[in-house]
Amino acid sequence: MRIALISDIHGNLEALQTVLADIDRQIDTKAGDRIWCLGDIIGYGPNPVECVELVAQRCDWSLLGNHDYAALYEPTNFNRAAEQAAYWTREQFEAETQRNQQRGSRLWEFLGKLRVRVKEGPFLAVHGSPRKPINEYIFPEDGPRSQRMQPIFDRFEWICLVGHTHVPGVFITDDFVKVADMPESTFTFREGEKVIVNPGSVGQPRDTIPEASYAIMEVDDRPRSVKFFRIPYDIDAVKAKIFSIEKLDNWLGERLTQGR
Ligand code: ZN
Repeated sequence: MRIALISDIHGNLEALQTVLADIDRQIDTKAGDRIWCLGDIIGYGPNPVECVELVAQRCDWSLLGNHDYAALYEPTNFNRAAEQAAYWTREQFEAETQRNQQRGSRLWEFLGKLRVRVKEGPFLAVHGSPRKPINEYIFPEDGPRSQRMQPIFDRFEWICLVGHTHVPGVFITDDFVKVADMPESTFTFREGEKVIVNPGSVGQPRDTIPEASYAIMEVDDRPRSVKFFRIPYDIDAVKAKIFSIEKLDNWLGERLTQGR
């Protein structure tokens, strides 16, 4: 079985559509392959409603990210641009509910039921970290600092799946393995070796590579490996939409080109 991991879409429909098309070339969801979403479907980007609809249709499940939480409940620890974007995002769902009550309620219900942690066999999935599932960041530079990492690694059995930092790669107990350092962008799981896998961000990569990021895991009687992918998409189209929406800061468009 193959399991595609997507995360941090942030209302970027062009990136999401491009990634899903690429996933469809590699896996077969009708034959039992799966797509899991690690949260932050919305926030920052210009197409939150469409992205939630698509994730609801295509993914087995999605987690609740801090930006999903912000739009649904309230923004916590957000800077001004992020907070304004969260309120604008909420308005889009309210407007959709005005236009089409049924579709609106279906989307609110989907958002309201997003879970903060999902346990599937050897996998524990959380948006941020197993300690603070919605808000804690596990940054690559935290890898070698095992004092900080140890309590995090103590909270899962084998493979933890996270998003949130928008930086793809794999944490082993005392290091962070960059995708560029993996043979064929693939990390092989070993029994007894705990790892944290971050597939990177579909809609707002922050590792200076602007292409959309995602990953596919190979699983048979046990998890075997995870391979990372980068996919170019129409960034200019998304930027143009962001620039045309007053409540979305222009920086939110600029950063897509810069990959940060
Ligand atoms: Zn995010």
